[in-house]
Amino acid sequence: DYGTTTITAAFAASAARNASRPAVRQGMREISFAEVDQLRRDGARGLIALGIRPGERVAIWGVNSLDWIVAGLALLTVGAVLVPVGTRLRGREAGAILRSADVRLIFTDHGFGGYDFVDAIHSESLPKLEHIVVLRSDAEAAGQVRGWSSLVRAGAGVAAQEVDRRAGAIRPDDLSDVLFTSGTTGQPKGVMMTHAQSIVACDHQARALGARSDDVLGALFPFAHNAGYRSAWQTSLLLGMRIDPIDVVNPDDLLQFVQANRTTLLPAVPTVYQSLIEHPARRDMDLSSLRVAMTGGTMVPMQLIFQIREQLGIPHIVNAYGMTETAGNISYTRAGDSDEVIARTVGRPLENLEVRIVDDNMRPLARDMVGQIAVRGFQVTHGYLNDAPATARSMTQDGFLLTGDIGLLGADGNLRITDRLKDMYICGGFNCYPAEVEEVFRKMPGVWQAAVVGMDDARLGQVGRAFIVAEPGLRLNEQEVIAWARENMAGYKVPRVIRFLDALPLNALGKVSKDELRQLD
Ligand code: ATP
Ligand code: MG
Repeated sequence: DYGTTTITAAFAASAARNASRPAVRQGMREISFAEVDQLRRDGARGLIALGIRPGERVAIWGVNSLDWIVAGLALLTVGAVLVPVGTRLRGREAGAILRSADVRLIFTDHGFGGYDFVDAIHSESLPKLEHIVVLRSDAEAAGQVRGWSSLVRAGAGVAAQEVDRRAGAIRPDDLSDVLFTSGTTGQPKGVMMTHAQSIVACDHQARALGARSDDVLGALFPFAHNAGYRSAWQTSLLLGMRIDPIDVVNPDDLLQFVQANRTTLLPAVPTVYQSLIEHPARRDMDLSSLRVAMTGGTMVPMQLIFQIREQLGIPHIVNAYGMTETAGNISYTRAGDSDEVIARTVGRPLENLEVRIVDDNMRPLARDMVGQIAVRGFQVTHGYLNDAPATARSMTQDGFLLTGDIGLLGADGNLRITDRLKDMYICGGFNCYPAEVEEVFRKMPGVWQAAVVGMDDARLGQVGRAFIVAEPGLRLNEQEVIAWARENMAGYKVPRVIRFLDALPLNALGKVSKDELRQLD
């Protein structure tokens, strides 16, 4: 019976059910569901007073925080479409997103002036942009800019019933947001999603986490990213559990955070878990509250699953696979899966989705055959914002989204990701999957991290180039690494060039940036 409500209505219902329970904890402050509900209604009245109309796009450019959540709920309440912008983006990158979404209003945090904000709004023409609202600020309106309190004051004359009327006019298949992809394989693309699709995605996420209303979610993934958007703040609020926005980057602070907040759910990319495991202070910390680790977002190194269980002591580990285009995750490992399954696969796709493995001509392949992963179903986007050509390129004629990922469906129904189509390279006629080669390198004693990219080669077409990060305090040389590779992988897979780095370049989410590696000389 999904697809029958809106995020706004579902949140209002959750707030009524959970009124006195904590919804968000920020620093030492706990904010109840009733308070969040009041804040979003205040914000919504302000937005109505400013003349924001249904369907107009409103951006939020800020770090994970209570204020971000409240602004998001407020703008959804008046029927506006949320466009989150990542805080790690530089001015021009953010400008391109604001331009392509043609925003009417931007919420930004007290870092206003920072985040290349000025550059962003001046690098592009933003004809529709009329208001800039600074979160956590009391500043009076001056020109286009005002603080949140001033927005609320502006709405004082708007009747409360007007908020309900606006919220009630939103239909489940109206757009709720346009989230931009990570841009791992090119320009970020704006993905359109509806209220109903969001609700369904939240529902699946809650079930995959086995989340309960007494759980505490540590929200480390940026809200502006698929992994931290519906899967985090929306899911927790709809379910009635507490969300603790995390705005820290280093493992020291993260360990402190988990201990102080008694975090029970901590979704994070593999590199974050790796840095926690490696951290010398870990053993002195109390991490016993952690109940579920959810990882994914990129290839998950095999041994990480074992380390999370043994060294961090987290009983339930989930490997999740998804992308912006599918409103969150679409395949999860399940309770009861062996560590082997969690380490090697992304589990079984959701029941309400069809997953196909297709060949280069879009023909479906049999079980256990490697090809491109294609998905069809309710959670799949209807397209990219203002980009019909990109939408057409990523869809098959019968409505399957081409994910750009390569993998196979095993006989047991588990989906296995081999690599990204774009990262695969062909050496002397053989397909090479960097993820597989990296996995072998990680087993070499002394190797901590490894990343492989293809590079052009006159004789073989392409050959591999490996970037290795040695374990702290250890040195490795090229000959021994090559010798080891020759013993442990087929000749065509052995990278021709080995380079040692102190650290791999990571993007905003913590995914290894292969594009940056390709550009290194
Ligand atoms: P762009 O589409 O702009 O190039 P992107 O694909 O990195 O960027 P996202 O939508 O944030 O943008 O990421 C989705 C991708 O992340 C998937 O297509 C897949 O390649 C990868 N991914 C997600 N989860 C997993 C996982 N559990 N295992 C392996 N890869 C994963
Ligand atoms: Mg993608």
